[in-house]
Amino acid sequence: MRMFDDPGFTAAPYNHFLERLEAQDRPVVAALHGMVLGGGLELALACHFRVARHGTSLGLPEVKLGLIPGSLGTQRLPRLVGGEFALDLCSSGRMITAALANEKGLVDSLADGAPRTFGLAAAQALLAAGKPLRRTSALDVVPAAVEVINKAEAAAFKKPGWPQLAAIVRCARAAQDLTYDEGKAVEAAEFAGLVHSPSSKALRHLFFAEREAVKIPGLPRDIEIRPVKKVGIVGAGTMGAGIAINFLNAGIGTVVVETDGDALQRGLEMIRKTLEANIAKSRISPEKVAERLQLVRGALNYSALADCDLVIEAVFENLALKQQVCSELGRVAKPGAIIATNTSTLDVDFLAAATGRPADVIGMHFFSPANIMRLLEVVRGAATSPEVLATVIKLAATIGKVPVVSGVCYGFIGNRMAEVYMRETEFLILEGAEPVQIDAAVESLGFAMGPCRMLDMAGIDVGAKTVIEYDKAGGLPPDASYRSLVRKLFTLGRHGVKVRAGYYKYEGRTPVADPEVGAIAESLAAQHGITRRKEVSREEITERLLFPLINEGFKILEEGIAFRAGDIDVVWVAGFGFPDFKGGPMWWAEAVGLEFIAERMAHYAATLGNAHGYWTPAKLLSQRASSTAGLSVGRRDHQVFVG
Ligand code: NAD
Repeated sequence: MRMFDDPGFTAAPYNHFLERLEAQDRPVVAALHGMVLGGGLELALACHFRVARHGTSLGLPEVKLGLIPGSLGTQRLPRLVGGEFALDLCSSGRMITAALANEKGLVDSLADGAPRTFGLAAAQALLAAGKPLRRTSALDVVPAAVEVINKAEAAAFKKPGWPQLAAIVRCARAAQDLTYDEGKAVEAAEFAGLVHSPSSKALRHLFFAEREAVKIPGLPRDIEIRPVKKVGIVGAGTMGAGIAINFLNAGIGTVVVETDGDALQRGLEMIRKTLEANIAKSRISPEKVAERLQLVRGALNYSALADCDLVIEAVFENLALKQQVCSELGRVAKPGAIIATNTSTLDVDFLAAATGRPADVIGMHFFSPANIMRLLEVVRGAATSPEVLATVIKLAATIGKVPVVSGVCYGFIGNRMAEVYMRETEFLILEGAEPVQIDAAVESLGFAMGPCRMLDMAGIDVGAKTVIEYDKAGGLPPDASYRSLVRKLFTLGRHGVKVRAGYYKYEGRTPVADPEVGAIAESLAAQHGITRRKEVSREEITERLLFPLINEGFKILEEGIAFRAGDIDVVWVAGFGFPDFKGGPMWWAEAVGLEFIAERMAHYAATLGNAHGYWTPAKLLSQRASSTAGLSVGRRDHQVFVG
């Protein structure tokens, strides 16, 4: 896939080869096994017969990379499976089983055994039958209904950052309305328009960044992985219950421990209801849910954790409580068991010390809803053993998560960067901007949700308590106005969506601007001597929210908290709804221009005052801004575990 980065790249030579293959006068059989994706499937489509081994997965995932299938896939596939199913496969990029592919006509037969053997057998059968060769490009398309195409077009319109969706619809129309040769030309033009586009480059960057993120510099390849067959979870609240579901889905026995019977019942109910909700959505059968529920057990005593291979604590975000829980876990967990904390912000090294066996301790920071969000920040403590780190990275894949390794610091990678983002959100509101204006500015860039809606959903109480804890630990700047709004909303009981009042008021789950929040902001501004303005521009909002966030990313790199800029991008896209077609904050920063960002930081330092170093650029940002090297040179390659 790196070949797409070549500015001179064109699909023409490969497509020419596929045409010649299809034009052969002797049977060409594709014997398929494993994963048959993208260009591999397009090769199979050019053959005269396709036979797949049971268990093969097939798909055209190009859409996820900002592309369309550019090697005649958009034109050949509908000729085999019909316009509607082809449009579905190209637009979703999903993989299908060999059985479904066979049912739909994408593969001609299924087989077992060695591909060479069943492939040759299929070729011999074709020769023996003596029938004319079936060339895909010569077949007629069973067209998709107009409504189906229109619906796909409307969906594409709603995702302007993904121009490949509209391109796929245009190719689908061409496949059914034009001749094969005309359709081919449409596909070639669409592909050429996308392959060098910023959105495709950004999505491809993320694709590689996710794969790179699991590589830990200095970790020996043959490192011993500890078996994880049974997992314990302490605290069955929002996170504990969600975390448990991940393990149940992976078929791993799980025990959840709570303080009292009611809390335990609530947690187990939450697990059951969440799994059962998937039956209604036809994602899982009732039998499978029953099977998974058999794997979970509740307990009120820590002794139930004694035979677990991994125990994850997910109790309230309170240092003293977590310290006590960790000390207890250090005592009850069996030798060799991994002890993990799901803390969002607290010091993992401090908690590790409390266990008395810090080499076994690691942070596993799941994101809410923990059974859905793909991101897992894996926090390596100063004493975390390489085996523990490697085991957790591997386990992440087992439970379908994207792991990113972070060092220990307040908030790790994601929440540390989110802190400066929320800081500016609140200062802007005190200065006169409205939550709705702030959210709209960020959402117009493609963010899933602006900061005010995000915190209302996560819970103002959750956000405020974190700030309060951080204050107790001496982490806040000596600035009484700092995050004063979230603390005020918290004391007023405006805890967010769940109580229908936070930065917004809520009609059902719909946020509505609330003049009361304006009045609270006005009074806080007066209290802290902050001048209010009538107009705050969209440009100022996006710059003030995102440039300090990027700056914090540079500090994180500089300090070695993240291994690579790409890791930070994965955290923000997979965990915080940063638009994937912008590649994540660090990738986007290069597109915006590091020099420009540094200039604007200086501008805000001059106009707002640089209280507490809010606008001081990271050394690495300043360096990169003044060189032409960009971030790629800044990507660090630490030797964390050598030998
Ligand atoms: P929660 O309040 O929903 O659940 C905490 C649970 O822990 C409660 O059910 C409580 O009864 C239980 N508990 C408390 N003390 C206990 C003890 N000594 N033994 C056993 N159980 C105990 O909280 P939550 O939102 O699930 O957060 C839990 C952790 O996850 C916190 O560290 C939080 O920072 C972190 N986290 C939360 C989110 C989020 O969005 N909610 C996201 C990521 C991480």
